[in-house]
Amino acid sequence: MAEQPVLIVGAGLCGTLLALRLAQKGYKVRLHEKRADMREQDQVAGRSINLALSDRGLWALEKVGVKEEILKECIPMKGRLVHPLGEKSFLSPYSGRSGDYINSVSRAGLNIALLNKVESHHNIEIHFNSKCRQVDLETSEVVFREGTSGKSSTVKASVVIGADGAGSAVRRSMMAATSELLFNYSQNFLTHGYKELSISPTESGGYRIEKNALHIWPRGDFMIIALPNIDGSFTLTMFNPMRGPEGFEYLQSDSAIKEFFEEYFPHLIEHCPHYLQEYKENPVGILGTIKCYPWQAFGKTLVIGDAAHAIVPFYGQGMNASFEDVRILDEIIDENAGDWSKVFEQFQQARVENTNAIADLAIDNFYEMRDRVDDEDFVKKRQLEMLLENEYPDYYSKYSLVTFRPEVPYSKAMELGRKQDEYLLDVCRSQVDFEDLDIPAIQQGLAKMALEILHVS
Ligand SMILES: Cc1cc2nc3c(=O)[nH]c(=O)nc-3n(C[C@H](O)[C@H](O)[C@H](O)COP(=O)(O)OP(=O)(O)OC[C@H]3O[C@@H](n4cnc5c(N)ncnc54)[C@H](O)[C@@H]3O)c2cc1C
Repeated sequence: MAEQPVLIVGAGLCGTLLALRLAQKGYKVRLHEKRADMREQDQVAGRSINLALSDRGLWALEKVGVKEEILKECIPMKGRLVHPLGEKSFLSPYSGRSGDYINSVSRAGLNIALLNKVESHHNIEIHFNSKCRQVDLETSEVVFREGTSGKSSTVKASVVIGADGAGSAVRRSMMAATSELLFNYSQNFLTHGYKELSISPTESGGYRIEKNALHIWPRGDFMIIALPNIDGSFTLTMFNPMRGPEGFEYLQSDSAIKEFFEEYFPHLIEHCPHYLQEYKENPVGILGTIKCYPWQAFGKTLVIGDAAHAIVPFYGQGMNASFEDVRILDEIIDENAGDWSKVFEQFQQARVENTNAIADLAIDNFYEMRDRVDDEDFVKKRQLEMLLENEYPDYYSKYSLVTFRPEVPYSKAMELGRKQDEYLLDVCRSQVDFEDLDIPAIQQGLAKMALEILHVS
């Protein structure tokens, strides 16, 4: 009998990267995507939604040999350019090391680049318009509804991997077996949602605001951020409460919307004359955290990426964590060649603590970006972190541990990062002038913490 394929559900960011890596390892892969082929849809050049890609994601892309190609389509962002209301804007660098930055990349561009690689690999068969309805967890048989005909088809695989995002159908099949699997599941929505707007390029295709930064307009209970696109435009995301006087539910009439933007974002709207139209046309997205466990069933089915751990976007790590899943799964496959049962078990055990950690850090960062980036103690702490990173090669702030140290698991980055934060905030609240701080003594305290938690000096 012919070798049964590994069946991956979802040809999004995680599913395509995983398909590629498994195919490179010699597995036959069948990839099913519910949507039509995005390469045949109209993509408004450059105006796509963009994501922050950083070192964890880049490491995984490097392993499949596409990192350099993707980096060519990225825009480096060196820090947060903060625009407080009625005060001067300032840059808060992501790191005190000049080589550390994050990258703005088009979601569609990245997905298309991965799909092109997938399609050219002889070990991968890809099926679009094919929506997973149900998985038989014990026999690895998957029922699909074929989009164009609406007919059902059943595919038998060696194993099934659900990379079908936050609303995962594969995870739903696992939930249906809750008592056999002792399946735990939690879903927590933020009281805030998001809406996308944009800033167009200048007439000559240039950038209207600083290109190499992630812009933030923090306003306490709400904020707008902007990431650059390669065509000179920016994608703006506004994060507002769903309800209340600044909530999306209230901001519906032209006059309420205009009044809100004129009061809180007067300089920003100079750059986006179409904001009212975009506000009314674009939908409100919801934001939430999904945690579940186990991620595997009977050694036959696994969930990965957002299907296993959807997080809020405030650390810019959802895709990076999903790509990191692929890198770690790849390593575990090497250690247990051919034994999917062991692979799935080890993978879920290795990952869950870390994805829970980044989920919690992402929630912390929501509050930090929204109402602390322009707080005096916070700004002083960031300056101190920059100085320490600049002078001491072994020191990494919490943000840097998460973003620029992919070899440090998220759970360790959280433990050490939070301890460092407490310590440095105490220093900053001590009323001692910045120039009078005993920097070598502070560094010694931090080095001791790193030694205790990471076991390295
Ligand atoms: C507003 C916002 C901003 C973000 N910003 C960042 C950022 O800056 N940096 C970052 O790292 N992350 C960011 N993220 C998170 C990131 O988008 C996700 O973590 C990432 O897309 C997860 O990849 P995935 O492949 O697991 O899921 P998805 O990208 O959701 O892909 C799932 C795929 O499965 C398909 N599918 C779904 N159901 C089925 C089915 N039943 N059958 C077949 N196919 C199916 C879908 O069509 C899709 O193609 C952001 C998220 C949001 C909402």
